[in-house]
Formats: sequence, structure tokens, C-alpha cells
Amino acid sequence: MTESKLGPAAREKAWGRLSGETFDLVVIGGGVVGAGTALDAATRGLRVALVEARDLASGTSSRSSKLFHGGLRYLEQLEFGLVREALRERELMLTRLAPHLVKPVSFLYPLTHRGWERPYTASGLFLYDTMGGARSVPGQKHLTKAGALRLVPALKRDALIGGIRYYDAQADDARHTMTVARTAAHYGAVVRTSTQVVEFLREADRVSGVRVRDVEDGRETEIHANAVINCTGVWTDELQRLSGSRGRFRVRASKGVHVVVPRDRIVSESGIILRTEKSVLFVIPWRNHWIVGTTDTDWHLDLSHPAATQNDIDYILDQVNTVLATPLTHDDIEGVYAGLRPLLAGESEETSKLSREHAVARVAPGLVAIAGGKYTTYRVMAADAVNSAAVDLPGRLQPSITDKVPLLGADGYHALVNQADHLGAQAGLHPYRVRHLLDRYGSLVFEVLALAEGRPELLRPIEHAPDYLAVEAVYAASHEGALHLEDVLARRTRISIEYPHRGVDCAEQVARLVGEALGWTEETVLHEVKVYTARVAAERDSQTQPSDEAADARRSSAPEARARLTEPVG
Ligand SMILES: Cc1cc2nc3c(=O)[nH]c(=O)nc-3n(C[C@H](O)[C@H](O)[C@H](O)COP(=O)(O)OP(=O)(O)OC[C@H]3O[C@@H](n4cnc5c(N)ncnc54)[C@H](O)[C@@H]3O)c2cc1C
Repeated sequence: MTESKLGPAAREKAWGRLSGETFDLVVIGGGVVGAGTALDAATRGLRVALVEARDLASGTSSRSSKLFHGGLRYLEQLEFGLVREALRERELMLTRLAPHLVKPVSFLYPLTHRGWERPYTASGLFLYDTMGGARSVPGQKHLTKAGALRLVPALKRDALIGGIRYYDAQADDARHTMTVARTAAHYGAVVRTSTQVVEFLREADRVSGVRVRDVEDGRETEIHANAVINCTGVWTDELQRLSGSRGRFRVRASKGVHVVVPRDRIVSESGIILRTEKSVLFVIPWRNHWIVGTTDTDWHLDLSHPAATQNDIDYILDQVNTVLATPLTHDDIEGVYAGLRPLLAGESEETSKLSREHAVARVAPGLVAIAGGKYTTYRVMAADAVNSAAVDLPGRLQPSITDKVPLLGADGYHALVNQADHLGAQAGLHPYRVRHLLDRYGSLVFEVLALAEGRPELLRPIEHAPDYLAVEAVYAASHEGALHLEDVLARRTRISIEYPHRGVDCAEQVARLVGEALGWTEETVLHEVKVYTARVAAERDSQTQPSDEAADARRSSAPEARARLTEPVG
């Protein structure tokens, strides 16, 4: 075991290790699949390095619907195996691996047709419950119209004739991915962000490592390894081209947009799932907010900054307003985000019908690619990826054990929740604040609080984002690998989607806190604020555009926090 503190000192040390050691595996991509693969490999006893070009979870893994779910829709497609596998993962996360981060969430399925719909949906949910769904969450519950309206008073009376309530689970995806990566580091993986793969190394016909560039300062080094695993989601084809070997599958991007609105705009005790013409729409509780989405359209433009258009937002509002007694308007929107699904290409159906199942292939000696799937099953994907690299590894490969490896912070979590009052009294914090911290850090909360010892000002809320404490911004940079203001406002916290100012009003305060941990000069602080503010302005602007092309042009006009990134690489 080594260092799980991803701060500036660890970053420098990691650079030395990348160039000085020979690894069993290099994993490319710090999304949930790459982080999971690094954890899987490290806990099997392999020497592993994880390199991420941008920030942990900066791709799709911070932009999902944030559900650990079996996928009710797959039942309709008779994909029982996929549902069973996903429900098993959901259960593992809720109970053993990440109870601090993954929580049950209830959904109302409003029924609109008399006769067939209730038994049809109920039998689907019965399978869901019996396949492993209803272990640590309640099973389905049938409601009359009056009962459903009591649960979700926000619904129009004529929008339903009854309803069924069922449970899934949710997590802050960006925090979860970062925690997986830190857990991998804890078990010895070298984890380094802002480290872009710019070339593949070869020995004869074998891939023998990668050349990486530090996109903060431009230096480059070679990493030598027995095998390389490409976990780059929607960037898979780009890396495949860079490697010069023929891919075995292709990945295409489908854009999904969500909007965030204040909790009081939809009076409800439960999330809601609605059928749409093409797919489903979720209304998901999120702290003091609701997340509403999503869309599903092909995307061929900038992979790093998928842009939501006005049409995307209108579509979501139109869909949800079909059932709400008091419609949502653009003025209700606090935040908007867009993400790209990495879908396996090659099938001719429309995007929303393509299977979410993953593909893994050894595309060349020493090179494995894995993509597709969904967030919920990242652990299964990770194990498959490492198994596929077995032939390139010298020793005997141990079986995957990540179903027995709790993520950092899980250990002791439940006891600490019971002790929240006591902890709060000790730290001078209200117990609700302590519970909020525990749901973000678990038992690592002591590391967070230790930073504030002798500095009570760090235990005050961030001025324009009072859901978070000042110390959390410092900790993001000193322990969680954040390197830029954007990393803290968009991923370590979710200020960028939870406040109508989208982080601009607290940018300077947070930049000063982050700068303290990273040794920023006054000039760097102001530069970071400027870059972040420009990003928000470009995003807002893109969200008033009618087409993907126009929105993309506005979004890509903003400066990049990681100015030395090469896009596309190669
Ligand atoms: C709108 C939407 C909603 C979703 N909702 C859900 C849901 O509710 N539940 C669920 O289970 N799944 C959901 N998904 C799917 C899920 O989010 C994805 O399957 C998952 O996050 C993909 O993770 P990944 O690691 O493959 O890709 P990513 O998270 O995109 O990671 C790839 C990483 O590779 C890095 N990279 C690229 N090029 C390089 C390079 N040259 N060098 C180094 N690094 C590089 C990128 O910077 C990126 O961080 C949703 C997806 C979307 C888009």
C-alpha cells in the first residue's frame, strides 16, 4: 500500500515513478472504467499506472444521470443477464463497496393506461426485485391515483391513473470515480492526471508502453509496460488510430443533456420516471435540487466539451411539463450539463436502441481496448479488461477481488453516521453538516477536518456556495488531485450546476483556497478565475443556440484550463 493523497508532492513523485519503473499495465483514461481497471489490477498484485489527460472523471463519468441501476428498459428488450449483472453491482455498491457514496433513491412510475399497463410494468418490476433488486432497497409498491398524487403532488391530476414506486440507487459520479482512483493509488497504483498519452511505444510488433506529456508544463516521458489498456470512452477510436493498429470495434458518441432545477419547483417525495417516445426521462432528487433528463442524439463535434443547445433544453422542459401541474420554465434552471455516451458502433439502429453492453478486445499484442457498457457495471468491465491483458503479463494472473475491496472512506462509515452529533460537537459543526461531509468523504472526513485544525475560518461555508465548506476546496487540491479551479467547481464539488451563478460568484474565493494548496501566485489565481468565468459564459451562450454546430462553436471558443492538451491527439 502506498499514498492515496493525490496532492502536489505525490504528483511529482508519480512523474519519477512513471519514467523510472517498468509496469505490468498502463491504463489510459481516468474515467470510471480506467480508474476501476487500475484498482482491479493493483488489488490483483499488478504494478499499474493510470494516466488521465485532463481531470479524473472529466469525460463522461461526471456527466451521467448518476444512477446505479439495473436498467428497467433492458427488461423490455429481454436482456435479463444485463439487468441481473447491473443489479448485483448496485447491491454491492450500496452495502459493501461504497455505502458512503451510493444511496437508494425511489422513483414513481406513473401509469397512464387502464388494463395492460399495471400488470405489464409490475411483472417487469417483479423481475427487477427478484433478480437482486429488492435486497437492501424496498420492493415495488402499487399506488392508486390518490396515493401516487400524495407521493408526487406536483403531477397534473389527469397525467396518471395510478402509479408504481420502485427503488434504484444514485451517486455523485465524479466523486465516486475520483474515490475509485484514490483507492487504486492506496493499493499502489501510480495515478496521474493532466498526463496525456501522445504516442504508443513498440518493440517489434508488440505495444510496449506509451509516451505521455504533462499538459501542465509540457515535459514528456516514456512509460514502459507489459501491456496497455485503452479505457478512453468516446476517445477510444482516437487512441486506436494513434496506436496504428486496427481496432476490433468502434465507439460513437451520443449526447445526453440534463438540467438542474431547485427542489421546491417540483413538489415530490420521490423521483419520477416517464416514458418518452424514444426512451425515458428521469426526474432525480439531487440534494436541494432535481436533475431532469436526458436527451439522446448523435454527436460528431468536440469530444471534450459537448454543448447543450436551446433545443435540447426545450425538449427536456417540454417532456417534463407534460406531467407537471406547474410547468418548469427556463428561469427555473440552475444548471445544465451535457455528456457523451460511449456507444459501440456498427449497428444500424437508432442511437437509443443500441446495446449498452461493453466490448473488450486485445487489439494488438500488448494492447487491450474496452468501451461501451455503463457506469453501474464499471467493476465488471475493469475485471474483463485486466483478464484480456493476461496473455501479455509474465506471471500468473490472480482473480479479480474488487467485490471485496471497499472504496476509501467506506470503512467505519455507518458507525460515524450514528456518531454525527458527537462529531459535530467536537468539530463545531451542525450534525447535518457532518452528515453531508460523511456522504462525500466517509471516514476520510477526519483528513478533511484535520486541515482546518487551528484555522476555524476553513470550517465556514463558501460564501456564494454555502452547501460546501471552505476546507473542501483546499482538500480537493491537497488530497483529491484537483489541479484547476474548474476541477473543484465542476467535479470535486458540483457548484457549477447547483447554483444559478454556476460558480462565477465564488470563483475567486475558491481559487484562493485552491491556490493555497497548490502554491499559486496572485497572477495564477486571477488567470484561473478568468478561464473559469469564460467557460461559464461560453456554456451559457451555447445554450441559447439552436443547433449542435452553433453551440459547439460558442463552447469551443472558451480558453482551455489545460492549455497544452493536444486535441485530437495524434
Ligand atoms: C447523459 C448520460 C447519462 C448516463 N447515465 C448513466 C446512468 O445513470 N447510469 C449508468 O450506469 N451509466 C450512465 N451513463 C453511462 C456512463 O456514464 C458511461 O458509460 C461511463 O461514465 C463511461 O466511462 P468511461 O471511463 O468509459 O469514459 P470517460 O469517463 O469518458 O473516461 C475516458 C477518459 O479518457 C481520457 N482520455 C482521452 N484521451 C486520452 C489520452 N490521450 N490520454 C490520457 N487520457 C485520455 C478522457 O479525458 C476521459 O477522462 C450515462 C451516460 C451519459 C452520457
